[in-house]
Amino acid sequence: MAKPRSEQDVARLLTASTRVLPIGAQSSLTGGATPDGGLVLSTVRLTDIQEVGQRLFRTEAGAEIETLQNLLHRADQWYAPSPTYTGALAGGVVATNAAGASTFKYGTTRRWTEGLTVVLTCGHVLDLMRGNCVAGDDRTFTIECPCGRRTLRHGSYRMPDVPKVSAGYFAAPGMDLVDLFIGAEGTLGVITAVTFRVLPEPPAVAWAMVPVRSESAAVSLVDALRRASQDSWRHSDPHGIDVAAIEHVDRRCLEILREDGIDTKHDITVPLDAELMLLIQLELPGGTTPADGYAQVAIALDSDAPDTPLVRFLRLLNVHQALDDAQMAWPGERRRIEQFLAFRESAPAGVNRRVGNAKRDINDRIEKTAADMIVPFEHFGEMLAIYREGYSRRGLDFAIWGHISDGNVHPNVIPTSYADIVSGREAILEFGREVARLGGCPLAEHGVGRSSVKQALLRQLYGDAGLDEMRAIKSALDPDWKLAPGVIFSRT
Ligand SMILES: Cc1cc2nc3c(=O)[nH]c(=O)nc-3n(C[C@H](O)[C@H](O)[C@H](O)COP(=O)(O)OP(=O)(O)OC[C@H]3O[C@@H](n4cnc5c(N)ncnc54)[C@H](O)[C@@H]3O)c2cc1C
Repeated sequence: MAKPRSEQDVARLLTASTRVLPIGAQSSLTGGATPDGGLVLSTVRLTDIQEVGQRLFRTEAGAEIETLQNLLHRADQWYAPSPTYTGALAGGVVATNAAGASTFKYGTTRRWTEGLTVVLTCGHVLDLMRGNCVAGDDRTFTIECPCGRRTLRHGSYRMPDVPKVSAGYFAAPGMDLVDLFIGAEGTLGVITAVTFRVLPEPPAVAWAMVPVRSESAAVSLVDALRRASQDSWRHSDPHGIDVAAIEHVDRRCLEILREDGIDTKHDITVPLDAELMLLIQLELPGGTTPADGYAQVAIALDSDAPDTPLVRFLRLLNVHQALDDAQMAWPGERRRIEQFLAFRESAPAGVNRRVGNAKRDINDRIEKTAADMIVPFEHFGEMLAIYREGYSRRGLDFAIWGHISDGNVHPNVIPTSYADIVSGREAILEFGREVARLGGCPLAEHGVGRSSVKQALLRQLYGDAGLDEMRAIKSALDPDWKLAPGVIFSRT
């Protein structure tokens, strides 16, 4: 494994090698960062972070998102689209266009990336800032390299119009060259530095853990919270509800969490008749303290309660019969917030452990079999029913959790045999067709990587013609196909 210290080192390694896989923290869930022969190029030594303008930070590719966040916090600033796994590196989050829970409010990495430094396989270094290189009407970009002029045409396929898309190369009329490298999963060049836009004054965030008795009740509560928040943003209403994210775990996840003793460990009450739990990230006016929170809870339903975002939020929960069982963690209650987040994260961890046990005890071909799909929220309830029906019809055990405020969830198979994996993959391809029919994207936030199912979903989405357009871009920038071979698509 090579650990270059500069972009010149990266250029030397690229020109001297025939096969190179750039990696960050290797937290990819798609096999995209799993070595497969050739040189593994780790960015861990590229860690410099510099302020380069107002609310602009140039972060080398190997800096951890958590490190960036800590540094920003000291200056009363923050980076909004942090993925759930904050040990991911800047280059990795850009290469996968990572999204976090709070994509609902803040969008994905793409929206916050103002510039990139990318080393091409010929060793040429591209320093790109938004606005400097934009595609013309003929969809082309021209890059002048010392080794010759490269002309590439972005795809003519239409990307799904949903908040999260990590499905091959970005394409849109008049697109910026920066956007081509975001989400390209290391197949077009090695990102050595990123210029991120950041925000002032981290908000005061409260968390609500809310059990709900039916899926339809949960969808209607999430819909109401989404609409209320969008209204607040539209009208800049200082009293309005301001939800940044809503996560969910379903009934099967709750069973697993109970089996694993996670509810007791983190002191979370899960009513036996809860169909699912919502974890709501609520932004409150700066300076809100736990004492303010408790005081407003005590009077929220009184007719003379002050009109505040929290009072409106609590009243909305009440209208949806979700207030009585809600548990709150207030801004600054670090331990309680960590308990809530650990409870949510223990659902995927519990399922992944069961998959690992089945692989060890039953068949070593068993692997994680899961979808990462998004639909426009108005179709979310329908899509949830399709996930359930598709897995149930095949006799599969499964659990669903995810970023419900985006209509983006992860339906995971809990396998008891290798046959379950085969059926699960079939179900996922079927889900992909349904998601596309509903205007969604079957590859929302984790990318495509080397997963054969995700590569099949990409082909389903854009067809062979779309993939050929992507291959032409790859060939123009990496004529020998030396970067991340097999990631996103095969050469033929
Ligand atoms: C517990 C957990 C939670 C997660 N939560 C989220 C989430 O909320 N949202 C989300 O979107 N993802 C999530 N992920 C997936 C993963 O964390 C993200 O995709 C993350 O952005 C990957 O960053 P990384 O540094 O680990 O990159 P890696 O996994 O090392 O690499 C990912 C891909 O990017 C390429 N790459 C890496 N660095 C570079 C570079 N410098 N130049 C060019 N290409 C490069 C690699 O070749 C690979 O194809 C989660 C993963 C885990 C394990």
